[in-house]
Amino acid sequence: MIYYQNYTISVFYICERENNMSKVVLTKCDSYDFITVKNKIKKSIDHLGGFGHFIKKNNKVFIKLNCVGPFSPELGITSHPIFIQAIIKLVKEYTNNITIGDNPATKDLIYTLKKCGLYKMILEENIKIFNGKPSCEITNKKAKYFQCFQVSKEMVDTDVLINVPKLKTHSLTYMSIAQKNLFGFIYGLDKAGWHVKAKNSLQFAETLNDLYGAILVAFSNKKILNICDGIVGIEGDGPSRAGLTKKAGIIIASEDAVSLDRIAVEIVGLNHNLFFLNKIANERSYGEGNLNNIVILGNQLSDFKNIQFKAPQNPLSSFTLKLLKIKRLRNILLEHPVVVNDFCLQCGECINICPPKVLSVNAEGLPVINKTQCIRCWCCMEVCPQNAITKSKRPILGKIFLKHFK
Ligand code: SF4
Ligand code: SF4
Repeated sequence: MIYYQNYTISVFYICERENNMSKVVLTKCDSYDFITVKNKIKKSIDHLGGFGHFIKKNNKVFIKLNCVGPFSPELGITSHPIFIQAIIKLVKEYTNNITIGDNPATKDLIYTLKKCGLYKMILEENIKIFNGKPSCEITNKKAKYFQCFQVSKEMVDTDVLINVPKLKTHSLTYMSIAQKNLFGFIYGLDKAGWHVKAKNSLQFAETLNDLYGAILVAFSNKKILNICDGIVGIEGDGPSRAGLTKKAGIIIASEDAVSLDRIAVEIVGLNHNLFFLNKIANERSYGEGNLNNIVILGNQLSDFKNIQFKAPQNPLSSFTLKLLKIKRLRNILLEHPVVVNDFCLQCGECINICPPKVLSVNAEGLPVINKTQCIRCWCCMEVCPQNAITKSKRPILGKIFLKHFK
């Protein structure tokens, strides 16, 4: 089944489907017990033809982690070492040519892997840790805003990509699951620059889809497998410390990141209409986002009906976002980041990452936000190791106005 055609590559995305349906596998998994997790992941992927369907003998495999920052695994923000070790063991049945990594937002990868509890395990497994810096250009000639992206070469230079997202809500993109995890193809702080180019969540969702289209082109003759760790995730103002750790007890797997994300938002009981990233991907036919065209294997949606994630605070509709392109209106109507001085360690991470550089240091060494210039990307909140940046209350005028216009 052909989903999408590029000018130069006749077919860049062929998703294996059964009776014209995209496949998503749901598997209950309540703990990070190694044997349990390994068996459950194996069972999940068996529904998709098994790891052997994706990995041929001695293939090069890249395992794309979620290491957004240096957070301990219990928080549910980053890849859990047990989950990743289980995948490594299963992949090793086919190849030892495995590279692993991510592009953390601020700190270097080794530091982040250590803090995330992954480093020792990776050394024990004798897996190559990737070097994100060497880059290559990937292109999407049908992009809406941006056709070219500089991404980490090693992530593209592989036969098989195993994308391992966490199940998380996200202040800017509403949810951060399989498709959003691939924003990590872009090296470290370079990611921040894209927030300046795409200033609100709608533009950012279009841009992430431009990138995703480019990744699909780059992987047109290769395999992608997405395995989401939803055993413990993040709800509320995710994807980092400002969110709340939430147990969901699920593994979600699919070849199609778009289908996986579509089913995930359903499972966590949130509003798909506010998940622009996924809606746009479906509109552009980068994958299947129509529930009627997705077949669920393994456990069924009804097995997870008690899961309800808190949404990020005050998500905005696409109509409202179009109105809020006017800077002055944004400041009158929208919440803004607030630094809780008592929690602040003065580490400077928020200042380093702030894409439009509107954070500065005051005489006491504390970060200060220029509210007027702030684009509300929430990167500062995402990287703060102390949860020392929160959202202000939405101004009364904003509450009235945005309620009316939603
Ligand atoms: S202050 Fe925070 S939310 Fe505002 S632009 Fe900077 S990083 Fe983004
Ligand atoms: S607010 Fe957070 S990220 Fe910013 S300096 Fe303080 S502790 Fe560091």
